[in-house]
Amino acid sequence: MKKILSVLLAVTMLLAGAVAAAETDTLTMATNAAFPPYEYYDDETGEIVGIDAEIAQAICDKLGYGLEIVNVDFDSIVPGVQSGKYTFGMAGMTVTEDRLESVDFSDSYATGIQVVIVPEDSAITSVDDLFAEGADHKVGVQQGTTGDIYASSDIEEAGLGSIERFKTGTDAVLALTSGKIDCVIIDNEPAKNFVAANEGLKILETEYAVEDYAICFSKDAPDLTARFNEALQELTEDGTVAAIIEKYIPSEE
Ligand code: GLN
Repeated sequence: MKKILSVLLAVTMLLAGAVAAAETDTLTMATNAAFPPYEYYDDETGEIVGIDAEIAQAICDKLGYGLEIVNVDFDSIVPGVQSGKYTFGMAGMTVTEDRLESVDFSDSYATGIQVVIVPEDSAITSVDDLFAEGADHKVGVQQGTTGDIYASSDIEEAGLGSIERFKTGTDAVLALTSGKIDCVIIDNEPAKNFVAANEGLKILETEYAVEDYAICFSKDAPDLTARFNEALQELTEDGTVAAIIEKYIPSEE
């Protein structure tokens, strides 16, 4: 009996150890996988791929962690990271004062530019047309993004049009191609992908805003944030980050 009990105890301890190891060794990254080339579903493998997925994988490899990527609504990433549901958030996410009140950010790893997508024959020819006196456009944004935040104050609250908020950039662009809205405000690299994938759209040459992308963490995890920063710096210095970005955004020669 004693022997059985000690065997049982040993097995229980082994199992508990395995569960604890699995918990501490795999980090959960929250993203919104409709934001190419930073994160999107690979049609063939069904996996989430992109710049963020690869940089996150390289950091986790360096630090000895496994990585699990989960696809969630963009506006639930910060609250989920804040509450500890996800270990970190990486989603072409702009560092903003508001978000800094809820989460910490790593060092920046990329620059984003907010641009405006319009139909090729649109009467909107520059970003300023959106703020012109008497303007009244239907503007599409992704809910909870910086595009949403800017347009809400610059256009909606200024009485210069209405805002339609979509769960993903893909949904916003779909509404644009079907003529339900007049333009979409979104980050430049996804914008280029959406314009390439849909006939009859173009990006206005004028920029709306220039921003820094970074990885967000719970404010309770300063050590992990510091270790990510160290790994990110090493991966930047050895050219890994540049190679990943070049793979998804080949520089024009
Ligand atoms: N850079 C924008 C933001 O942080 C959009 C990010 C996204 O839609 N994934 O709000």
